[in-house]
Amino acid sequence: MGDVVNLLDHDLDGLSAYCEGLGEKRFRATQLFRWIHQKGAKDFASMTDLAKSLREKLAGRAEIRGLPVLTEQVSSDGTTKWLFDVGGGNAVETVFIPEDDRGTLCVSSQAGCAVGCRFCSTGHQGFSRNLSTGEILAQLWFAEHRLRERLQLPAGERAITNVVMMGMGEPLQNYSALIPALRVMLDDHGYGLSRRRVTVSTSGVVPMMDRLREDCPVALAVSLHAPTDALRDELVPLNRKYPLDELMAACKRYLQAAPRDFITFEYCMLEGVNDTEEHAQALLALVHGRGEHRVPCKLNLIPFNPFPASGLQRSSRERVLRFAKVLQDAGLVTTIRKTRGDDIDAACGQLAGEVQDRTRVGERMKRLPVPIVPLGVK
Ligand code: SAH
Ligand code: SF4
Repeated sequence: MGDVVNLLDHDLDGLSAYCEGLGEKRFRATQLFRWIHQKGAKDFASMTDLAKSLREKLAGRAEIRGLPVLTEQVSSDGTTKWLFDVGGGNAVETVFIPEDDRGTLCVSSQAGCAVGCRFCSTGHQGFSRNLSTGEILAQLWFAEHRLRERLQLPAGERAITNVVMMGMGEPLQNYSALIPALRVMLDDHGYGLSRRRVTVSTSGVVPMMDRLREDCPVALAVSLHAPTDALRDELVPLNRKYPLDELMAACKRYLQAAPRDFITFEYCMLEGVNDTEEHAQALLALVHGRGEHRVPCKLNLIPFNPFPASGLQRSSRERVLRFAKVLQDAGLVTTIRKTRGDDIDAACGQLAGEVQDRTRVGERMKRLPVPIVPLGVK
């Protein structure tokens, strides 16, 4: 017999095809899918209303293989961080952020990240490998059912109402694994999340933004961090490949199919690097359309979460407020992200997990001093 199939690797179409291959009807796959994702079943024996013949066929051929949990940390504000073992000396992190009206899970897409943003702890670690669909979904599957148990939710009530692909990794550089995972999140037989409550965050992989719009449009966040190409080239190296004009044009195209009528731009506030009033003015000029690319958007300012190797500092509260005011006065909806889970290092950009770097990103970062590029200088 061939390898044991992990059923977490399939969206409903994939699972149906698999079951058909075993000579089973499509509705059986739906039943099985609901057992896995809605009830959190770990083995076939517990699936009491599933035909015995199917259970027997699955035994030995297939399994529901989650990820080993290395640690679980719960912050004083309820934020919870898990470290999952993905083998080969790699581990990824997942964070649950409870709020009054929702529960958000921040999910990882890769062990490490090849983009290498200067202010990001994952970026500093380099890149090991893409996660599979099953490894992406295992984070949600585990967290949802673990939280239901811990919070003692009544049957049918969900712990996780929103998913953001903002953990470790660049989701649009792991596209083929991402799409089936998103489909399971959206599926009514899976997690039943609306497209507006699933957010892909990208550093700006332009061609894949176009494909996401076609294949599975969900809410989109774009990590901007700089208003000019000269500065963005330094902070987000991918900008050298897809500069701001192309990125803005891709954002506009994305909105034609997006479930929301705006793009969220993320902007990490770095003291003395990208946080002056001039930067705010340049940012306004950018999103209000140099030329034809006016992009309907909201701005989310993220106070930088420092980590030792970055050599960067968080902008002062006054600077962040001043920056926000320039944008707000010009009519741009601007929010400042609250930092959660401070006591367990669960904030944006602090997810480090454990990564066996197969690139030379880590090394390169150590050699380069932190660049401070004057505005407008190319
Ligand atoms: N690779 C994707 C998604 C993961 S990063 C992306 O870059 O969009 C999620 C968000 O956290 C991004 O906006 C990223 O820029 C931000 N971030 C990274 N490091 C950070 C740090 N040290 N402090 C604050 N935000 C950070
Ligand atoms: Fe990768 Fe996103 Fe971190 Fe940049 S910010 S290094 S794209 S995970």
